[in-house]
Order: sequence, then structure tokens, then C-alpha cells
Amino acid sequence: MVKETIDFVRAHYESEKFIPLHEPYFAGKEKDYLNECIDTTFVSSVGKFVDKFEEDIARFTGANYAIATVNGTAALHIALQLAGVLQEDEVITQSLTFIATCNAISYIGAHPIFVDVDLSTMGLSPEKLKHFLTNETVMINGQCVNKSTKRIIKAVVPMHTFGMPINLDDLKTVCDSYNIKIVEDAAESLGSYQNNKHTGTKGLLGTLSFNGNKTITTGGGGMIITNDETLAKKAKHITTTAKIPHRWDFNHDQVGYNYRMPNINAALGCAQLENLPEILKNKRNLALKYNDFFNDKPARFVTEPENTTANYWLNAIVLDNASERDEFLTVTNNAGVMTRPIWKLMSGLPMFQKAQKGNLENSIWLEERVINIPSSVKR
Ligand SMILES: *Cc1c(COP(=O)(O)O)cnc(C)c1O
Repeated sequence: MVKETIDFVRAHYESEKFIPLHEPYFAGKEKDYLNECIDTTFVSSVGKFVDKFEEDIARFTGANYAIATVNGTAALHIALQLAGVLQEDEVITQSLTFIATCNAISYIGAHPIFVDVDLSTMGLSPEKLKHFLTNETVMINGQCVNKSTKRIIKAVVPMHTFGMPINLDDLKTVCDSYNIKIVEDAAESLGSYQNNKHTGTKGLLGTLSFNGNKTITTGGGGMIITNDETLAKKAKHITTTAKIPHRWDFNHDQVGYNYRMPNINAALGCAQLENLPEILKNKRNLALKYNDFFNDKPARFVTEPENTTANYWLNAIVLDNASERDEFLTVTNNAGVMTRPIWKLMSGLPMFQKAQKGNLENSIWLEERVINIPSSVKR
């Protein structure tokens, strides 16, 4: 099967050269907009492309507000603060995620708690979350308190793994009954929908990433999306050094961050967004081809969960066991076709080894079996 996969990927990309996992696709006005930044000197933290990119993302996702940041991790850091997470609070997330999710929690001085994912979505399991909250917490003065640590659980951060949306409706029902805010890490799921709502728009806040390997890129960049006007205003304020707008005075009313996306990055984003429908179509087409290909092979191709539309950011397959996985990784990478295992569980990393966790059987099962296969847009 491995040899056939290599041939299949090479045939799809019509290339005998190295095939990366996911490379950026520039086919639109990227150079025009970048040149415009340079010609007008607006390359930094002020400029029309930042405002336009925010408006365009808000329109595309259906969120009322979008605030551009330097990267997705910064967006998460601020979104968690806006959700009311303070030092020594606790935040529940999945152990099967990219490190940025947990780093953002740690920047605040809050503590992550790891709850299992569902096998069907690879994202946070509403059922497992409910089980954890039922057994491990008590409500005191309307706040969800962890029985063993006595700390308050302020937020839950689900992550839509590889662009596969989790069931936000079920998650919200659970979180609402425990007065816990949802911050969606939608870094990987631009263009993914659950029940026709864009990922990142059902929680109190959502965050996106435009890193070089994501569905569209601004070089580096991120976005906070929300429907809450007050939070949107605060987000813009604290990501721009908490400066009170004035034509010449420097007035800052709290400790802020220099997290604003530069205009030159937003210019790239505006051009990329114009191509997003084409990019999504192209990626879905590849996913359909992979699905057919793996249909009669000893590997399961991961498809979008029920009632969702996935962006198929990174295509994934599930192999029988860890040794099959390692064999697949070795042979494909030796042949110049890049593949990669899913992340190591966060709960196993040195800085999170002492973190509280639920039963992580699905996370462990997936960690041993999931591989990403080439997913770039075909030119
Ligand atoms: C890419 C990504 C982020 C944000 O990454 P940045 O590189 O900071 O933009 C956050 N969470 C997940 C799950 C990601 O994949």
C-alpha cells in the first residue's frame, strides 16, 4: 500500500520532485498588494489592508467582528484573557492538539486540564467533557470549581483537528450548564462548518491562524473572531498596546500587547482570501480522490464528520498500529513524499506531565495511528 500511495501522490501532483505536506498557494493579487504596501510605505501596524482583511474574514466566517493579530498563538492568548481566564484558573482542552493551544493557556499562568477527543472528529469530546465535569467539579456561587485543586474552571478550548469540526452544539450545552466559556481554536479550520455555521463562531470567541502551512497564509498571522462587540473592542485595544486613539498623545490605560498584524501581512491575506473558494474546492477534490484510493486499502481515510463541511486542510489516514505507522512514515519520507505523524500528546510533554487529565483512551489510540499525507493545493 505504501508504494501505491507514493505513486498516487506523485501522479496527482504530476511531480517526481520532493512533495511537501502543505505548501502555500499564491495565484492571485499577492504581489500587487505587497507592492502597494511598499509604494505607499504602509508596511507596518497601520494600513488599509489590515482593516480590509478583518472585514473580509468577518464576512467569510459570518462572525460580527474580526481582529487581526501577529499569529494564531497571540490570538488565543488574548481570547483566553477576554474569556475571563486569570492566573491560577483552569482551562480544559484536548491532549491531542498542537502545542500552541497549551502555550496560550500557560502564558496566562492558568493550568490546562486534558480531556479526551472523539474518534470520529479527533477533537474534544462533549460526552467525555460532561463526564469529567460531572465527576470532578462542583458549582460554587455559579462557578465551576475543580474538587481536587479548588481552582475555577473558566474556559474550554476545543480544537477542530486538521479542519474536522467537532459538534459545537453538544459542547455548548455542556459548557453552558457549568458556566464555562468556550474559546474555539479554529486555527486549522478556516472554511470548515458545523451545521452550516463557520467554526470559531459558536463559542464566545474563536481564533484563526495564517501561518505558512495553514489553508491560507499571511506569512505569519492570526485572527480573533467574535459576535460580542464589547469583547471585539477590547481585543483591538489590548492587541495595540492598549493605546487610547489620539492624533499625537501617547496614552495607555493598561498593560497591552504589540500583537497587531502588520499591513504587509494583511495584504497577503487579502489576496489569499480572494482565492479561498478555489483553494477549498481544490482541496476537497484531492480528499475525494484519496477517499476513493484508500477505499480498498488497509488504512482508513479520515472524512468529515456528520453535519459538517471540512476544509480538508491536512488529509489524514488511520493505520492499524504504531509499527504500520512507522513503516509508512519511513518509506514515504525516504521516497521524498512528506508524511508526518499526528502530534505527541500534550499530557506527555515535560511541562504538562503533572496536569490533571481524564481518561485519554481515544487520544492515545489516535496518537499511535494517525498520519498526515500531502495536502497542498494542486497547481
Ligand atoms: C497553527 C495553530 C495555531 C496557531 O499557530 P501560529 O503559528 O501561532 O499562528 C494554534 N493552534 C493550532 C491547533 C494550530 O494548528
